[in-house]
Amino acid sequence: MAEQWIYLDGQFVTKENAKVSVYDHGFLYGDGIFEGIRIYNGNIFKCKEHLDRLYDSAKSIMLNIPLTYQEMEDALVETLRRNELRNGYIRLVVSRGAGNLGLDPNRCPNASVIIIVEQLAIYSEEAYKTGLKTVSVSQRRNIPDALNPKIKSLNYLNNILVKIQSNLAGAGEAIMMNAQGYVTEGSGDNIFIVKNGVITTPPCYLGALDGITRQAIIEICNNKGYKIKEEPFSMHDVYVADEVFLTGTAAEVIAVREVDGRIIGEGHAGPITLKLLDEFRSIVDKDGVKVW
Ligand code: PMP
Repeated sequence: MAEQWIYLDGQFVTKENAKVSVYDHGFLYGDGIFEGIRIYNGNIFKCKEHLDRLYDSAKSIMLNIPLTYQEMEDALVETLRRNELRNGYIRLVVSRGAGNLGLDPNRCPNASVIIIVEQLAIYSEEAYKTGLKTVSVSQRRNIPDALNPKIKSLNYLNNILVKIQSNLAGAGEAIMMNAQGYVTEGSGDNIFIVKNGVITTPPCYLGALDGITRQAIIEICNNKGYKIKEEPFSMHDVYVADEVFLTGTAAEVIAVREVDGRIIGEGHAGPITLKLLDEFRSIVDKDGVKVW
């Protein structure tokens, strides 16, 4: 197999040599941010939107990214070229960098930038037709006043605790509510419900990441004349929906067939979900930055 090259602070190093300090605050405290991005057929899908979110997250947590926006885009392109990757997943991480054992970020003079690119297959094609079994969990989404889920931070413990509950329940993904009981998102994706032809997703202020795939679906709905709303809803609305689907960079648009033992619609991917998956896949190699 060809060597995998990892971008580490301006250098390309092999996977074995891609090491960071044990004093890195990303490791010690989850102090940092990241992006998960896809390359489809040589096109970095929604590159600008991902970099915008990265730089917004950095600003929000007062993290100085040592690369300009253009340098970051160039680093992504260069990493993909080095690895000859035309289809796959890009993990871009900016950590606060090495400091001391205290949590003060002022002790971390240099943020660290890491880019890992790999092939990806999270769900089988079959799963897009059958849909996922999901559960709601007792673990609540971080409240925006404490750690705003709009920041794509390295601190994913909230999501990991949810994933543990989901695993214990034998489910493929979990649905998180906020402290008021409104549905927010999955452990690693946004959620949509469809009822009588109307598609609804929770507003991000309830406690959800403003997903790039979520925005792409909203855009497709608006362009293609689907009725789409951003409105709060409860688990009851999920149970009685005609269709439920999740969106994310890795997951794309994947149907939910079961929630807390309730069968959704016909118990497999519904027609609107499949149509949106099709529409989504028709733009992924067009909208973005061309590498090849
Ligand atoms: N919510 C969470 C918590 C996530 O981790 C992700 C995946 N990055 C998403 C939603 C979906 O966002 P995107 O479409 O930008 O991948």
